[in-house]
Amino acid sequence: EPVLSLKGITKAYNTGRPNEVTVLRGVGLDLAPGEVVALVAPSGAGKSTLLHIAGLLDTPDAGTVHIGGEDMTGRSDGRRTAVRRSDVGFIYQFHHLLPEFTALENIVLPQLVNGTGRRAAEERAMELLTSVGVAPRAGHRPAALSGGEQQRVAFCRAMANAPALLLADEPTGNLDPQTSDQVFDTLMDLVRQTGLCALIATHNPGLATRMDRRIFLDGGQMVSNLS
Ligand code: ADP
Ligand code: ADP
Repeated sequence: EPVLSLKGITKAYNTGRPNEVTVLRGVGLDLAPGEVVALVAPSGAGKSTLLHIAGLLDTPDAGTVHIGGEDMTGRSDGRRTAVRRSDVGFIYQFHHLLPEFTALENIVLPQLVNGTGRRAAEERAMELLTSVGVAPRAGHRPAALSGGEQQRVAFCRAMANAPALLLADEPTGNLDPQTSDQVFDTLMDLVRQTGLCALIATHNPGLATRMDRRIFLDGGQMVSNLS
């Protein structure tokens, strides 16, 4: 059974102007357990919109989203939030860590919100930080970390609640090319070790070739099996 199943996803933004922008037109996609898929498209093609719909942050105008076999269509906000918190991890281009909190606390907090006890949450956070090589920086706030370290901490936060599905939007797009390659290696190691299923948006073809499968968005539709 797919971890994520999208069927017939259509989304338009009503801009208040006569021509509303239809961003997605009948997009369908199944992600099998453990599959790591690149979502490749130029800026403005609808990658973020699709990731937000897949991660239950936004709703489509038409179509269905299944996560772990559960049809999320028409579910209550409370149920959608619960599934998002426990089953979905997000990574963005910018780390979005909370500036007042240490690296460790940034990984502990989502676990407390999800009902994990503090001690277990801290242990898991340290394990995650160790696995990405940032354990020595656990007590530092984000501002004291390098860009690469910040993004590694953001990966740990996304993994904090052991999600089934990871959604990443240009996860290394804010880093210089060399740092980007190293940090991307870390992300792929973490994803492979965890065996989780990931949809990673990128416009970097070099990074895309390292994933199991590439899908392209063109004119709001999904095109598979190009190159
Ligand atoms: P990408 O992530 O591939 O850059 P986005 O999903 O962010 O693409 O945006 C796709 C299109 O939808 C763009 O033309 C963008 O301007 C438009 N768009 C995105 N969000 C909104 C919004 N909230 N209101 C109106 N238009 C939007
Ligand atoms: P919290 O548990 O802090 O209330 P939510 O349940 O609202 O957080 O969100 C769960 C995940 O979705 C978090 O990783 C959060 O960063 C992300 N998120 C929430 N709202 C948005 C949004 N508007 N845009 C992008 N990501 C969001």
